[in-house]
Amino acid sequence: MSVVNGYRCVACAGTQPAEFGGYLCPHCGGNLDINYDYAGAVSRIDDEGFGVNTDGMFGFAPLLPVECTGSFPLKVGATPLYPATRLGRSLGLNRLYFKDETVNPSASTKDRASAVVLRRALELDVTTVATASTGNAASSMACMAAGLGLHAVVFVPEKVPAAKLAQLLCFGAQVLAVRGNYDAAFDLCLEACAEFGWYNRSTGLNPFTREGKKTCSYEIWEDLGRQAPDWIVVPTGDGNLASGIWKGWRDLRAAGLVDRLPGIVCAQSENSAAISLTSRRVVESGESGDWSRVVLAEVNASTVADSISVDRPRDGLAAVRAVVESSGLAVTVSDEEILQAIPEIARSTGLFLEPSAAVSWVAVRHLVQNQQVGDNDRVICLASGSGLKDIPSAQRAAGAPLVIDPDIQSLRRALAGRQ
Ligand SMILES: *Cc1c(COP(=O)(O)O)cnc(C)c1O
Ligand SMILES: [Zn+2]
Repeated sequence: MSVVNGYRCVACAGTQPAEFGGYLCPHCGGNLDINYDYAGAVSRIDDEGFGVNTDGMFGFAPLLPVECTGSFPLKVGATPLYPATRLGRSLGLNRLYFKDETVNPSASTKDRASAVVLRRALELDVTTVATASTGNAASSMACMAAGLGLHAVVFVPEKVPAAKLAQLLCFGAQVLAVRGNYDAAFDLCLEACAEFGWYNRSTGLNPFTREGKKTCSYEIWEDLGRQAPDWIVVPTGDGNLASGIWKGWRDLRAAGLVDRLPGIVCAQSENSAAISLTSRRVVESGESGDWSRVVLAEVNASTVADSISVDRPRDGLAAVRAVVESSGLAVTVSDEEILQAIPEIARSTGLFLEPSAAVSWVAVRHLVQNQQVGDNDRVICLASGSGLKDIPSAQRAAGAPLVIDPDIQSLRRALAGRQ
């Protein structure tokens, strides 16, 4: 039995019982955080164990809000944590790592959230699940829905990258490409779910999304020998990934499994920086006493990092809290740096990342330049999505190949730089 004992609003701290069936706080409309009976979780951990298993992230069942009975059709989580020795040394960092989330079934970290939400949908006997998405949440939900035999309806901006759209259509989702941005798609999905009774997976709105993403922290903890790193650098749009990463560590501390926690680094494009701007303002003004009074910065997002292009972050306050409460940092980087980072990371690690994922490494460089991390700090970058998701951006960064005639003279000329 799951040991959930209720919900607490991230903004006003109002609570709801475990039976609560809504998405947001009925008092103030804030996002809800799921609470556990941690003593109960500890005794489940003693009985069942706690760590990735053949079912990937569902090996963490004692601290998940869904029943994990029966195997899941796709393996989510249990992703590798790679030391990035050469890339780290290029900045004088001795302990840089990448958590490679591109190996998840739909090739992004969103699969962790979709897996938990769809297990929840099965518990609720729902047959149609819906989501709004910049692309990855939708392709992830469509992927898991295909595995489970559920019907998926997705709302994406008309300009979604082609690869993500192709994934969606192949997985058999009902795809609605909305003439507008992610925020417009989000609002329409909300209205559609109310009208048609679909279960809404939309990021942040659905409190189970954060619970899926937190398993990424459990894995890092397991891989580091049940310890926290110094920093986890999280590419951030809606803020659900950052708040999920932080939730994982809060859980581990509450269950007595760790005492020192990492700083959460919110890494954003300067062209989509609502959470970073707000985090800095909150730290500088000391307005963190009453979270219900914190208003998110308003931005008009437009960045090459499409997965984190968000005007109104749907889990923004929880992400700001993650940065502030973890004594973390907020970093903003330029689109040009993001594109350059794609081949840079690929060449020295073997990881091919989409622009949004590459943001983590650019943020690390800023932190080193500003002397905000130490040479021996353990720093983890989340490699949150695959480069195959957005080929045109990768091509812009990588340039063109040498084109030659099929003979050895042409090859010699080309290698000598005289085409
Ligand atoms: C969704 C996503 C993120 C950020 O997650 P948010 O919850 O929107 O902050 C980062 N990287 C990739 C590749 C994503 O798809
Ligand atoms: Zn509230």
